[in-house]
Parts: sequence; structure tokens; C-alpha cells
Amino acid sequence: MTLLTFRFAPSPNGELHLGHAYSALLNQRMGARAGGRLLLRIEDIDTARCTPEFEAGIFRDLEWLGLDWERPVRRQSEHFAEYRAVLDRLIADELVYPAFMSRGEIRAFIAETGGRDWPRDPDGVPLYPPLDKALPAKERKRRIAENMPFAWRLDVAAAMAGATGALSFAEFTDEMMSATRTVEAMPRAWGDVIVARRDIPTSYHLAVVVDDALQGVSHVVRGHDLYPATGVQRLLQELLGLPAPRYFHHRLILGPDGRKLSKSFKDTGLAALRDAGVSPQDVKRLVGL
Ligand code: GLU
Repeated sequence: MTLLTFRFAPSPNGELHLGHAYSALLNQRMGARAGGRLLLRIEDIDTARCTPEFEAGIFRDLEWLGLDWERPVRRQSEHFAEYRAVLDRLIADELVYPAFMSRGEIRAFIAETGGRDWPRDPDGVPLYPPLDKALPAKERKRRIAENMPFAWRLDVAAAMAGATGALSFAEFTDEMMSATRTVEAMPRAWGDVIVARRDIPTSYHLAVVVDDALQGVSHVVRGHDLYPATGVQRLLQELLGLPAPRYFHHRLILGPDGRKLSKSFKDTGLAALRDAGVSPQDVKRLVGL
């Protein structure tokens, strides 16, 4: 029997807070119960915002919490060539296209076309207008040759037409993994989502599905804020012929204002709590574990 594999995959673009502690500890607990493996993956494709200092902080905080994970740790920024190879397949299959509109141009276009009812993605961002998808190949080439900035976007309509497998996923009903329910994946909610940038040949979605498959991740345990992202990720898995892990999207730890914690909330940062004399046991209690 193959071992179940869990992973905690933080981005070193800020300090870990109680929400991360909950996610990491829950992965540890579920992994241990299942007699499985626990991996730590550093998701640092955003080379402008991720720093070695934040990464060092992640290791420090997780060790302090008593987490143990397999080595070596996969650091996404060291694998751009692998993501590039996958992106090239999507380009060759005409499932992505270069999208040139800046945020300002998108806003202006939407305002001109009647504005208010323009659909938004689950993060509240307006869906990408359909203009660039229709650009003739010659015009695309010209713009790229002129060094116009662009991102690779998924042609979600073509992708949906090309995906033959079932676009659903298995979601555990609770952290004991006592049952799963089948959830319909809804990638269209994101419109033509960004799959890669010109200078960084991947996006969060692409790197996650490539790595989860490559690392044999069988169980994705992460915050409920990523639940809608699972739709796009399932679609990419189908297009690339990758296996679908099972998912558990856990409750979020909320701040005193009842809102999701962010990396700028200094008072719930793990390093600050540690400095204030809070123990790992206290952290477990604080997050309800
Ligand atoms: N790197 C992502 C984050 O920091 C999490 C990715 C995932 O668990 O799928 O929120």
C-alpha cells in the first residue's frame, strides 16, 4: 500500500500567523493519524515578494511548533524549468493565450461596456475581457516581438471542451476523514485565469498541481479560502493528465475583528507570540487543537 502524503505549502512573503499554525498542525495531525508522510513545500514563485528571511522564519516557527517534515524541502523557485516545460505543452495545445491588457485597460474596457454587471471571480476581481483571445496569431507575434508585457491565460472554454475526465473532486467532510463528498469543480468562475507570466513561467495554480503530482501528494489539507481555487486546479490536472488528490478545506482562524488573518497582523504572528512568552501548547489551544 502506498503511504498517504500530506503537505503544508506556505509562501515566504510574510510571517506565519495563527492561521498557518492551524493549517500546519492539522496537516501534521491528520498525517500522523493516517500513518502518512508530511512534506513542507516553499511556494516562492513570486520572487519579488518572497525573501530568504521570511523563509528562515517559516523553518524557525514550524520547528518551534514541533513539526517534522521530510527533507529535502521543495522550493518552487528552483524549478522554473519544469514549470516552463508544462507551460509549453499548454501553449502547443492552444489552451493558453498571451493576454496583453493592463489592469487599467481592463477597468476602462469594462466601464465602456456597461460596467456594473461584469462578472467577477471568487476573489472579487473582474473576469478578463475576451479581446485578446481573438487576436490573430500575427498580431500576437508582433506584440511579443515588440516586448509588450503579457501573461499566459487559460482559454477556459477550450480547456473545458478538452477536459474529458470528470471535473469533480473528493472533499473530506471532517478532519477525521470519516467520509468524502463529491464536489463539482467550477473553473469557469475564474474566467481565463493567469497560468504563467512572461518572466515567471508559472502561477500559483500551475505550480501547485505540478508539484502535488510530482511529490505524490494524496491529501491536500488547506484553508477554506482556497476552496474555490480547487476548480481551476482540477481542470489543470485533467488537461495535464495528473492525478487528483483528495481535499480537506479547513475552517479559517479569524482575527478579533472576525476577519481572515493576514500577514500584516503583527499580533497574531507566531514569532511575536513566541517573543511574548506564548508556548507551542498555547498556540494549539488558541487555534482549537
Ligand atoms: N502557498 C499557498 C498559500 O500560502 C497555499 C497553497 C496550497 O495549500 O495549495 O496560501
